[in-house]
Amino acid sequence: MIQDIGAGRYHNEYRQAVPKRDSCVLCYRKNELLVRIQDEGISFLTYGETVETAPEAAGVYTYLFSIDGRAYFLVPELSAEQFPGTEWMPVSGLRRNGPKEAAFAGVTGYQLWGWYSARRFCPACGKAMVPDERERMMKCPACGQTEYPKICPAVIVAVTHGDRLLLTKYAGRDFKKYALIAGFAEIGETIEETVQREVMEETGLRVKNLKYYKSQPWSFTDTLLFGFFAELDGDETIHLDEHELSLARWCTRDEIPENDGISLTREMMQVFKDGGPWPDR
Ligand SMILES: [Zn+2]
Repeated sequence: MIQDIGAGRYHNEYRQAVPKRDSCVLCYRKNELLVRIQDEGISFLTYGETVETAPEAAGVYTYLFSIDGRAYFLVPELSAEQFPGTEWMPVSGLRRNGPKEAAFAGVTGYQLWGWYSARRFCPACGKAMVPDERERMMKCPACGQTEYPKICPAVIVAVTHGDRLLLTKYAGRDFKKYALIAGFAEIGETIEETVQREVMEETGLRVKNLKYYKSQPWSFTDTLLFGFFAELDGDETIHLDEHELSLARWCTRDEIPENDGISLTREMMQVFKDGGPWPDR
């Protein structure tokens, strides 16, 4: 999955860090990030490059996180023309381009960039927000409003019925592959209640024996996913919510496509195809 970066260690402890020459610099604009694409995959600018070529950006580097001791900093939009060999790549391209560390860093930085961009001004009084020194939080010096990173909890549900799994396709989206039931938690409900509600809303089915599987940060959409397996409880007749789904059907293991992605959804489909729902671990 996208957060599985091999031996790489991701450290997101908040600290006041100063960029070094080999620190990575992440630069975004709407739905795109600045990268170099070579045979070995994507790579990012370094602070050594940007500090010489774009000295006007000095003082605006925001520390984000470190992977294997290398720090990643956010910088406001730079011009690709200033940096030979760089180009703007859609953030969605991180689903297909490695190496793994770079893809994970790129999308995690994207979520942080989106949050910082949307928290420049206080949502309560409109004054300029300032970063807190001790934790990742923006605060308003005028009214005291505090804003923490935006992380939306959501569920992925693999509904099983004997040797069949409920597969769906979204309605009205570019993503045309099979998926599982998915949806965001609402205020005031437990994550288990989210599972029950989303399955009922999208397919009219009841489920029982919920089993938590794994979670996944899905920074493309500011989401933290909680994956559950759940057994059908009662009638198997599907009543499709056509606003959300174009299709929902019970599929045998042979009908489930092989895992070709980096998402929790595809791993859970593969787990069931391989005889799950419980994996060897
Ligand atoms: Zn305020």
